[in-house]
Amino acid sequence: MKLIETFLEDYGISCNSYKKLEGYGSLNYKIEGSDGQIYLLKIYQATEDKELILEEIELIDFFSKKVNCKFTKTIRNKNGNLLGLGPDSQFCRLLNYLEGNCLTSDDLNETLLVSLGSTIGMLHKQAPRKSFPNIAARELSWDLKQINSIAGYIDFIRDPHLRSIVLYYLDAFQNKVIPHMHNYQSALIHNDLNEQNLIVQDQELVGIIDYGDAVRSPLIFDLGIALCYLLMLNQDFEFIISKVLNGYANKNKFEDIELDALYYVVGARLSMSLCHSAKAKAKQMDTDYITGSESSASSLIEHWLSVNPVRIQQIAYKAFGKAIPKYPGKKIEDKRKSLFPTNLSTSYKEAIHFHSAAFQYMYDQEGNTYLDAYNNIPIVGHSHPKISRIVSEQIRNLQTNTRYHYEVLSRYAGKLLSLCPSHFSKVLFVNSGSAATDLALRIVKTHTTKKKIVILEQGYHGNTELGIQISDYKISQQKDSSFSEHIIRIPLAYNDNRSSAKALELLESQHDQIACIIVEPISGCGGQVPLDSKYFQAIDAFAKRYKVLLIVDEVQTGFGRTGENFWAHEHSNITADIMILGKAMGNGHPIGAVLMTDGLAKSFDNGMEFFSSFGGNPVSCFVGEAVIDIIREENLQEKAHSTGEYFINQLKLIAKDFLQISDVRGRGLFLGIEFKEDHKLAKYIKEFLKSNYILSSTDGKLNEVIKIKPSLKFNKKNVDRFCQVLRQGLQEYNAH
Ligand code: PMP
Repeated sequence: MKLIETFLEDYGISCNSYKKLEGYGSLNYKIEGSDGQIYLLKIYQATEDKELILEEIELIDFFSKKVNCKFTKTIRNKNGNLLGLGPDSQFCRLLNYLEGNCLTSDDLNETLLVSLGSTIGMLHKQAPRKSFPNIAARELSWDLKQINSIAGYIDFIRDPHLRSIVLYYLDAFQNKVIPHMHNYQSALIHNDLNEQNLIVQDQELVGIIDYGDAVRSPLIFDLGIALCYLLMLNQDFEFIISKVLNGYANKNKFEDIELDALYYVVGARLSMSLCHSAKAKAKQMDTDYITGSESSASSLIEHWLSVNPVRIQQIAYKAFGKAIPKYPGKKIEDKRKSLFPTNLSTSYKEAIHFHSAAFQYMYDQEGNTYLDAYNNIPIVGHSHPKISRIVSEQIRNLQTNTRYHYEVLSRYAGKLLSLCPSHFSKVLFVNSGSAATDLALRIVKTHTTKKKIVILEQGYHGNTELGIQISDYKISQQKDSSFSEHIIRIPLAYNDNRSSAKALELLESQHDQIACIIVEPISGCGGQVPLDSKYFQAIDAFAKRYKVLLIVDEVQTGFGRTGENFWAHEHSNITADIMILGKAMGNGHPIGAVLMTDGLAKSFDNGMEFFSSFGGNPVSCFVGEAVIDIIREENLQEKAHSTGEYFINQLKLIAKDFLQISDVRGRGLFLGIEFKEDHKLAKYIKEFLKSNYILSSTDGKLNEVIKIKPSLKFNKKNVDRFCQVLRQGLQEYNAH
């Protein structure tokens, strides 16, 4: 109180009462003066930049003359100065206090949003492009054009999932916005149009306060920042954005390239806010003012991922009366038809044209967002920022092959092997699951003179000549399906002890001719059928008894997908001789591997060099390593377990209500829903899910199984949505 009185003396008033307000950079007090007026007193430390504050005052003065809106006015003291001096070189500024309240979610009606948009439009039209050298030159960590300045704060975010989203938006901003920034209109912007700085009276916007964060930066950033805070109050983005932009468009214009940035500006500002909150918390500066928006920012940033950037572009173009770019879908389809054999097929009756994707969401060219419950390759999520970053960093650095030394090759191999059962001690890298299968069979050939290969019904192991030969799934799709004579096919024997016993008899009868057995721990193409553990163990025991090599194909099931174990075959306590990997291993980057025992590695070294131009190249090794690190850091195996358990239980509840579901099965996030009696239903459901923007697929002998194998970022909310649409689809099917 004494300090306040000291400062107020110079203004010829004393303080009747005061209230401390939150704020950055200065001590702020709401004062009731002896003259009955309400004031805002800001007390600054000596270290604060006076020139900058004087420019801020000048800027507010400038706007108050040009824009029809109230601004806080700085009052001169008895000496005519805008800044009053106090003890210890502290200084102050006294402002009039605007009547009204801060904006709340209750105020977000159409009229207010349009008028807010129009006010921002006016501010931007008038905003000084030049002069104000101190503001223009300042470096502020809240300025989006200085986005790099918060890079070091990301690690303060404790939740690894949230951290990955923040990193995604910072990376997207860095790559999709910053390179175009020189083409955006820049001027002095408010830079913090949050609800606390927007004053409302009788549901009308009456004033804008606090130019303390003003910078010279692109106008589109300022608009994006305002939208970001409005969306934290109300996530109905179609409504909020279209109304604000309608208002803005009455007063000022943007080029297409600026509107294209809007989606990413919102994402980046949310990320910036979350970074600042996390840092403030870590440094125990946990004031409500700094961390206040943290929970709404985390909720919005997660929601924002489900919003297609194309949709935001469409809303923005429409508001500004611009033609929405027409995507040449038909032309692209025709071109594809003319260039490829027709069995390069697409999914669905009407195939989807994609624009981009993030984590468990895929964005089409029309502005729709698909929840991806199907694509298992991006195991850590589509466009995971750590993967994007490592690829682009390393491709700039070194792209060579295993004929030379580079550290990451062995580092990655060591890391991968350390996650495998300990009898796997050697590895070779290739570029696909198919190449891994092929190589595995070559390794077998060097180790044994026996010729026969045992395969499982409905198995799939790859698209090379050898891969197809051992893939019943593919061979039996042909009209005149015939296997070469060295192939022995045994049944999947799901819940069927008689056929598993028969299969084992068949193996016994030819044991002296069998070189290897190749199995998938859970058959994907078979319709997500887990290999019965007893059957699997009997196969394993047979293999050990007769020195038959056991190959496990973990291309679909590896890397923690099945939750309980990192490798699905560990569930049945199997000791395989060879393991083949692919798909998720590079999260979309083409990489595969064959893991083997020492003995097999020795046999394979038969005088012929093994060389793969791309297998084990440094870029791929960095990517493979990053995938493992992310799975660990983000606890994705545990997530696969808990989300998978929740998912299967929800599906079982649905199965109780819809008797057409004959089975729900799988482990972790590798699940199947079987419709045995009416296999047309699976196809119907797949299309129904798609028309509700959820991706799945069908498989199994009759295509009677819906396959679910999403990124491990898939969460319980996503599960609920899937289940709700599935129920609806079943109800609609039954109603017809
Ligand atoms: N094995 C299994 C179990 C697979 O599912 C696949 C691919 N679907 C492959 C091998 C072949 O992998 P790629 O397509 O990478 O060649």
